[in-house]
Amino acid sequence: MIQSPTSEVAPRRSRRSGLVRMFPLGVPLALLALLLGAAVFDRHTLTVGHPSPSGGRGFTFVATDFQGDPARWRGCDPIHYVVNLGLAPAGAMDDVREAVGRVSEASGITFVFDGRTSELPSEERGTQVPGRYGDRFAPVLIAWTEPGSTDLPTGNVVTDYVGMARPLEDPAAPKPTLVTGWVAIRSDEIQGMGFHGPYSEGLVLMHELGHIVGMGHSTSPENVIYSGAFPDLSVSSWGPGDVAGLHVLGRQGSCPTTR
Ligand SMILES: [Zn+2]
Repeated sequence: MIQSPTSEVAPRRSRRSGLVRMFPLGVPLALLALLLGAAVFDRHTLTVGHPSPSGGRGFTFVATDFQGDPARWRGCDPIHYVVNLGLAPAGAMDDVREAVGRVSEASGITFVFDGRTSELPSEERGTQVPGRYGDRFAPVLIAWTEPGSTDLPTGNVVTDYVGMARPLEDPAAPKPTLVTGWVAIRSDEIQGMGFHGPYSEGLVLMHELGHIVGMGHSTSPENVIYSGAFPDLSVSSWGPGDVAGLHVLGRQGSCPTTR
C-alpha cells in the first residue's frame, strides 16, 4: 500500500523584511519522510523523499513493485475527478481545467469532470467513498484547504505544505494499479493564480496531479515535478523529465493497441 502523501513546502514571506525567504525544501521533505515514511517494504510502498532511481531517464515513479514496474492507472480508462472549491480563490476552476488538460495532453489519459463536491481530503480516505460516490472507486478529489480544515498535518516548517497528493491503489490488483487519490491545495500558501512559478496555483496543481498519475519527484528544477532546495522560479510548463515520465505512465505505456 502507498503509505504517505507527498507534499510540497512553500517559501514563506518574512514578516520582518517583507522579502520572500526560501526554505531549503529538501530538508523539511527529508524530515517529513522520517516522520511519515514508515519503513514498510511491501511491494506497493511509497517512500516519500526516496523516489525510485531514475536510471538516467530524468524522471521517477511515485511507487514501484519488486520488478521495478511503476504504480499506474489503466491508461485506457478515464480518470474521474471532483472538485471542492469551497476554500478556493475565485477563478480556481480555470486553473484546474488547464492543469488537468496539460496532464491529459502529456499522458494521453482522458479525464472526466464528475462535478463539484463538498468532500475534503483526509488521511482516512479509502479507495471508495460509497456514501458520496456509490459502489465504485471514488473519483480523484481536488480540494483547497486551510489549517484546521482537514486532518492533514500542518502547523510548522516540517509539516506545512502548499500542495499535497496521495494516489491510492486498488488493493486487490495483482500489479500496482492506481484507482483514485486526492490533491490538497493550501489556499493560504498559494502564490498567485495561473501558471507562473512553482508555487503558483496552476503549477502546484500540475505537480500534484503528476503524483496522482504516478510521477515521483525530480531533482531537476526545470521539471514541474521537481522537489528540492533550488526551484526554478521561471518554470511555467512541463519540463523534459515531466514529459518523458508522463508519456511512460500514460496511455501509450498501459493501453493495448490494435496493431
Ligand atoms: Zn511533490
